[in-house]
Parts: sequence; C-alpha cells; structure tokens
Amino acid sequence: MSPSTPVTAAPPQTYDVIVIGSGIGGLVTATQLAAKGAKVLVLESYIIPGGSAGYFEHEGYRFDVGASMIFGFGDKGTTNLLTRALAAVGMELETVPDPVQIHYHLPQDLTLRVHRDYEQFLQELIQRFPHEATGIRGFYDECWSVFNCLNAMELLSLEELGYLTRVFFQHPLACLGLVQYLPQNAGDVARRHIKDPELLKFIDMECYCWSVVPADCTPMINAGMVFSDRHYGGINYPKGGVGQIALKLVEGLEKAGSTIRYKAKVQTIIREGNRAVGVRLVSGEEIRAKRVVSNATRWDTFGKLLDPETQPTSEQRWQQRYRKSPSFVSVHLGVKADLLPAGTDCHHIVLEDWAKMEDNEGTIFVSIPTLLDPSLAPPDRHIIHTFTPSYIDDWQDLDPAAYQAKKEQAAQRLIQRLEAIFPGLQDHIDYQEVGTPRTHRRFLNRQDGTYGPIPRQKLWGLLGMPFNRTAVPGLYCVGDSTFPGQGLNAVAFSGFACAHRVAVDLGL
Ligand SMILES: Cc1cc2nc3c(=O)[nH]c(=O)nc-3n(C[C@H](O)[C@H](O)[C@H](O)COP(=O)(O)OP(=O)(O)OC[C@H]3O[C@@H](n4cnc5c(N)ncnc54)[C@H](O)[C@@H]3O)c2cc1C
Repeated sequence: MSPSTPVTAAPPQTYDVIVIGSGIGGLVTATQLAAKGAKVLVLESYIIPGGSAGYFEHEGYRFDVGASMIFGFGDKGTTNLLTRALAAVGMELETVPDPVQIHYHLPQDLTLRVHRDYEQFLQELIQRFPHEATGIRGFYDECWSVFNCLNAMELLSLEELGYLTRVFFQHPLACLGLVQYLPQNAGDVARRHIKDPELLKFIDMECYCWSVVPADCTPMINAGMVFSDRHYGGINYPKGGVGQIALKLVEGLEKAGSTIRYKAKVQTIIREGNRAVGVRLVSGEEIRAKRVVSNATRWDTFGKLLDPETQPTSEQRWQQRYRKSPSFVSVHLGVKADLLPAGTDCHHIVLEDWAKMEDNEGTIFVSIPTLLDPSLAPPDRHIIHTFTPSYIDDWQDLDPAAYQAKKEQAAQRLIQRLEAIFPGLQDHIDYQEVGTPRTHRRFLNRQDGTYGPIPRQKLWGLLGMPFNRTAVPGLYCVGDSTFPGQGLNAVAFSGFACAHRVAVDLGL
C-alpha cells in the first residue's frame, strides 16, 4: 500500500452477544449461545476464566480459589448441568466421585457424615436421633419430591412462555409440584416433620453451609436440589482441579467459533436511549453487540457498570429484599501428608457453638481436594483449603503492615480451631496463603467480596429472585444474583436459562 492510499478504517466488530465476565454463569451462557450459532464475545478482567471457580498455582500446588464441592457432574437425569454444559460444546471432564459430601463436627459432639448413599446417611442421622426416625425420613423424602420434579424436565428459562407451556404439557404433575414449593422455605417444611431442637439446628447447618442462611431463609427448591442430588448425581471432583471446568468451557467456546478476551475489564455498559448496545472497556475501547449479558453481581452491574443515579426501581426493590452475604477469610495450606490419617474425608464443617453459626468467623469450612486428586500437590503433600465468613468492613483502612498482621492473626485463629480435628496441623504446614474479603473483591471483582445475595428477612422461597432479563432493554444478568442463586450448578442453571431467553429474543 502506497503512503497516499486512503486508509479505510475496519468497520467496528459487532457481536450477537457480549458476556461480561467468565464465571461459570457467564461461560455457560456463552457456550450455550455459541452452540446455537451466535457470535459471542466474553470479556474477562482477570488473566484466567472461572471467577469464584478459578484457581491459582504456587510452589507446585494448584489451589481452587473457592468452590470445590461440586454438584452437576452426574450422568443421568436433567439436573447434571455441568456435564450438559460441557457436552453442548463437545467437551467432557473426568471426575472423581466423593463418597462423603460433608463430615460435620458440630456442638454437643454431633459428629456425622453425609454419605453419598442415601440410606447410609439416614441411618447415621437416625442413630443419633432415634426418636425422630419418622421425621428425618419425612423431611428428606420431601426434598426428593422437589428434586424429582426438577429432574424430570429440561431446565431452561422460566421467563419464556413457549418453554413453560411445552414443559407443562409434558410434565404437568412435576410442574404443579414445583409451583407448590416455589414460595416455601426449608425451615417450614422441616418443622412439619421434626420437633427435636438440636436436629432442627442440624437442618439449619445443612442449609447454612451452602446458602449461608438458616433453613428458615433457604428456599425449599434449592434445598430439595442439594439434599437429593448429593445422593443421586453425587459430589464429583474434576480431575486437575475445579479450574478445569472453566478452561474446558472456554476451549469449547472457541471451538464453536466464539471468543474470550482476558485482561479486558468492562467499565461501562453503553446505552442508547435506555437500551444496552455495547460496552466500554477501561482501556477506552468500545465494542457493540445486539445483546449484553452481565455475569458481574447485581451490585456491580447496576452500581458500577451502569449509572447508579438511573438505577431501575426493580433493582432498588431487589436490594430492599436481598443484602450482600459476608465474604470469607480463606487460608490455603500445603501440609505434610502424614497429618491426615487414612479415611479422612474431603469436606468438613466445624462449629463449636450453635449460637455462633452465622457469626463472623463462626462456621469453618474445610476442603482437602488432594484426597480425591493427589496431582494438585507435590508428592507427600496435601492441600487444606479452609475458610470462614468475614465482612469487608473489618478489613478496610489498614496500612500494609496492619493488614498483614491481621491476616496472620485470622489464619492462626483458624488453624488453632482446626487442631481439634487435625491434631498437629500447625507443625505440618509447608505452605500458607491467606485471602481476605479484600482479596475476593480484587480478584473476583465482586463488590465487598460478597459470596452472593441473601434475604434480608424471611421471604417467599425463591419467588423474590430475579430471572435473567432486566429493566434495561438488551441487558441480561446471569450468575449467583439471579434465580436460583449461589453454587456452580445453580449458576449453570442460570446460564442455561439466560442463553435460552437471549436466543429466543435473537430469533436463534
Ligand atoms: C470460598 C468459596 C467457596 C465456595 N464453595 C463452593 C462449593 O464448594 N460448591 C459450589 O457449588 N459453590 C461454591 N461457591 C460458590 C460458587 O463458587 C459461586 O456461586 C459461583 O462460582 C459464582 O459464579 P458466577 O458465574 O455467578 O460468577 P463469578 O464466579 O463471580 O464470576 C464472575 C466473573 O466476572 C468477572 N467480571 C466481573 N466484573 C467484570 C468486569 N467489569 N469486566 C470484566 N469481567 C468482570 C470476574 O472477574 C469473574 O471472573 C464458593 C464460593 C466461594 C467464594
């Protein structure tokens, strides 16, 4: 080309759909749409995909940043949404079945395991509460009723009339069953079957350890799903770590002809009139699309990516119903393998005082993924990832030295408490990394590092959770601040629903 040839600027690239964020919700939306032929662009601010289901590597260890108790990898039914999401773009993942979902270490020596085998779990619980044998069976069997309804039908967008009509005619009884449970909470159902206060506290913990609220505020639909699927599809750990899920989804996305860009932080959602028409990155670059999907939390989407002054009233109302759950202090440990006796379980919950279940640093969560996949650590080492709720307010306004010291103290408190179940832990530590709500906020891009929305007070089950469309035309939300909430399988559900709604709107 001669210097005098006029330069015609390449036309700006436009996409069918831009997805802001590559959490599992965002990636399931993107891959589902790409599989339907849409041209999708995923923009991720971090250097790898996955968000809360991401990973980091240090000194031969590969740590999951968050999730490690994984539902959705079953091989039957319709609720195995991670298996299905991967298959939609020609991918699969080898997983390792976990024989015990959780080993509880609770007050009054209430120590028991949730076995993959349903009867074995019930027997262990009934042995501790023999006078509640009927109630225990009644409650958990009712959870199965919910699950069986869900597991009978294809899980797509409840905002799409065509799908609702079709599914109703195919599965009328299952639909009526779900409608009945939609406004109910697990606590009300539990009290219909169970009277023993200690057992009801246990049911609270069964809910709290994934919903971060007690049974009274935990929707029955979610409880039915979790309390049954752990015995049906089971808990299965992806070989190579949880990060593999996002990496494989990205591989499938690219194979299907769509694109992901890392270090591409969206600053603003561009609107024309009221309609979302694209995004502006922090670099100033503008990219246009027919539809925009935000995988950021609702607080980030409507408080940062859009002008908070023009926040739709539906969002203001949502914020009156839901608040941000705490974040966590997370301690990632590499430990000498001889710390753990043979038969140690992968996931543990520790609480010494029922009154502190919901407190800052009350309940302790533990995952030891190397018991299922030793390749995540150097030889003769295990990973112990432990975390406990903590609010950002406790970590603000600290100078670097004070922040460092506070992190170290918080880690020490956790380690000391864990000595009760892993005697000698302190002396077996080979590697230690501490994350705080500030770390979660920074690396996961989540306001205040929150784990997700929780009801401000008891609500009507899941009825208050928004679906994927928003009050801004052209803009959709996906992920844990949409129906049905937190957890990888739940955000995958929201991804299937979002992609379905967008595909119908685009006429795909
Ligand atoms: C410590 C911890 C333990 C957990 N344990 C479990 C568990 O055992 N089992 C389970 O099922 N779930 C677990 N969870 C919950 C689960 O990880 C989350 O509910 C789920 O991963 C959330 O997915 P998401 O799609 O909503 O978005 P996120 O994971 O939050 O991902 C959103 C993505 O969007 C990106 N992003 C945000 N804003 C922008 C922007 N402006 N521009 C570009 N990119 C942006 C972020 O960088 C991020 O990658 C755990 C969570 C934590 C924190």
